[in-house]
Amino acid sequence: MERNQSRAFAGFRLLKMEKKNIVGKPLPESCSDRGFDVEHRADLNRLMTRVYNAQGLMLRDGMKLRRQGITYRCWEHGEMYANYHTHTVRCNHAEGTEREYIEQGLKQGLAILGFSDHSPQAFDHYVSSLRMRPEQLEDYVMTLRALKEEYAGRMEILIGLEAEYYPLYFERLLDLIQPYHLDYLILGQHFLGNESDGQMACPRPTDDERDLERYVKQTIEALETGKFSCFAHPDILHYTGDRKIYRKWFEKLCLRAKELNVPLEMNMLGYVTGRHYPNPAFFQIVRDVGNQVILGCDAHNPERIADPDEVVRCMRFLQQCGIEKVIDHLELTAPTMI
Ligand SMILES: [Zn+2]
Ligand SMILES: [Zn+2]
Repeated sequence: MERNQSRAFAGFRLLKMEKKNIVGKPLPESCSDRGFDVEHRADLNRLMTRVYNAQGLMLRDGMKLRRQGITYRCWEHGEMYANYHTHTVRCNHAEGTEREYIEQGLKQGLAILGFSDHSPQAFDHYVSSLRMRPEQLEDYVMTLRALKEEYAGRMEILIGLEAEYYPLYFERLLDLIQPYHLDYLILGQHFLGNESDGQMACPRPTDDERDLERYVKQTIEALETGKFSCFAHPDILHYTGDRKIYRKWFEKLCLRAKELNVPLEMNMLGYVTGRHYPNPAFFQIVRDVGNQVILGCDAHNPERIADPDEVVRCMRFLQQCGIEKVIDHLELTAPTMI
């Protein structure tokens, strides 16, 4: 493979740097007009120190570097730039404080950490055990706003939610979140129908094509609302039937997601805990369609934030599916925009 092409397994890379911005000394052959590749962390650190000295930038401060038009990517060594899939204790199945997630993110070199706990839903009588209640939303937002302020300059903290698209309740959800001006929503469709109507949970195995069809149609409708900045574990529907049928439906979904410009998440939690997703069959479709892919930690525990070994393993999985490139951050849509 040629050097200096944008690819995932390039060791360390500083992109979009002018040669003259790297001070003084002659540069190795591997430096092109587009960037600078180095293979080892020690070389990266040396290079970054030179950049720092030359431009007064803060070492490892991803945001400042980005503003100068410089990005560095360290996929080979498992460094993430941004993670938008993070939970809190309010969903009843996550652990740790928000601060512990943030500190772990800082330790792992994240520049952006987005919280996206399971969204409250304004059900009539039904109470879901998997999500915060509507009255907890205020505390969620206020807690994170205070931390966002406290950590400003060190890490960008974003406030979002992971939400299902439930046709019966979606307008209510938008009304509920409207006063809080959230940064983003990610779509995570854990149930068919509206959850409260007892319809199927998506991780349950099924070989019925009608379930697959319903999942695809419901999530396409979700993406068409324009409210979701990313589609988390799009392959969570556990279809165990014929592969051709699987491809037929998921191809429709991937094509629509591409048209609508919604990136698809490779779910790291699913991978490292051996769940049925991420599904190689799905990501082969993603490769063929050419969707944008982003890694998401889906952290329900601070330790799961941007673990370098996990990042490397997940990138290898994608590479085995034929996907060489992932995006390192999202263009966010505020869900309250009309
Ligand atoms: Zn969860
Ligand atoms: Zn999640």
